[in-house]
Amino acid sequence: MTFSLDPEAAEPLLQVAARNLERLRSVPELGARYADVEAPRTLAELAALPPLVKDELNTALAHLRPAAADSATWLFQSGGSTGAPKVGYAPTGFYMAGVHAHWQPLDRTDVFVNAWGAGRMWGAHFLAAALADLSGCQIIALGSVTQEEYPDWLAFFADRRVTAIGGTPSVLRLWFGHARAAGLKLPALRKVLWLGEAWQPQLADDMAEVAPQAERWGMFGSTETWVVGTNTPDCPADTFHTLPEQLVHADADQLLDFTTLNPAMLNPVLRYRTGDAGELTACPCGLPGRAMRVLGRRDSVVQVRGLGLHVDELVARAEREPGVRQAQVLVTQQGGRAASVELLLLADPAVDLAGLRRELFAATFTLATAFQHDPDSFRVRAVDALISNGRTGKTANSVVREVE
Ligand SMILES: [Zn+2]
Repeated sequence: MTFSLDPEAAEPLLQVAARNLERLRSVPELGARYADVEAPRTLAELAALPPLVKDELNTALAHLRPAAADSATWLFQSGGSTGAPKVGYAPTGFYMAGVHAHWQPLDRTDVFVNAWGAGRMWGAHFLAAALADLSGCQIIALGSVTQEEYPDWLAFFADRRVTAIGGTPSVLRLWFGHARAAGLKLPALRKVLWLGEAWQPQLADDMAEVAPQAERWGMFGSTETWVVGTNTPDCPADTFHTLPEQLVHADADQLLDFTTLNPAMLNPVLRYRTGDAGELTACPCGLPGRAMRVLGRRDSVVQVRGLGLHVDELVARAEREPGVRQAQVLVTQQGGRAASVELLLLADPAVDLAGLRRELFAATFTLATAFQHDPDSFRVRAVDALISNGRTGKTANSVVREVE
């Protein structure tokens, strides 16, 4: 199974892909690569088109400057972890009617805290608001808060009998972590909506303490593709049911690409690669149709002295250690060469850092080999906070820092 949809379902809608091919062909920087490509009529022809990566999509958007047919056109941050924000476009509504038709985690009785950061051209807060609007629930549009504000807001949530909250898993961990540390319970909370990062299993531990009734409801997407798929508490956290207007393809290397079949989509999403790997499979929840299982990011491999370090594996291994709440890999480069690799931990004081360091060093071929002659260049350190991207609010599993 290499596509999320069968040919009978997808091929009648490929005129959207053909139109996006024409738009991409009109972009001077991309014209040459699409010059001899014919409009796809079948899934096989679509799979033969050149894939599009983030920078190319941004180049195309800078030229196309799309506008919504009958609403405002919103500009959002799209890609680029450094420098000036790159721009993606969406109409008011953010395509959430199509999502709501298939996925209704919220209903009129819910009191929903929208804890995705608002402003700074972030998209998630607004798409969650659009979903909540369609659900007819009560909305508390909170956005992000500062460290000192958690206790007061948590008391407010308890007072208002909040039933649902949504945010990135990193942000949700802060909410539940603060509540748990303060011994605060949110007994009315039943739904935790998430989007923007992979689910973090440690969240389930904190949720069980703070809000025993709460279950996770996930969305998968990006600012370029918008929401591609959703899941329910009955689905594994890494598996999403894709929408009929989103055609997902997994190539022989399990690299995913996305093609929109929605004629209203402003971004020319045609075989667009987000860098996520995955497979199309049946979901154990029993819902019919194909689901997309996300296997992590292919760009989670960082080069360390010519060897590929699998950051996600190292982080997952560290986070299995009792007392380690979250881990992050910091690679410091000097003149393009890895000078050191540090594993930063949010951890209880009781964690044996030296022991964990020894174990990880011995068990990680890349580290043991790359730092064979200077093993002290791999360090494990407890920190008060991991390094977050101030623009996107995300905490990546790895950060590469260049020093003079
Ligand atoms: Zn499922």
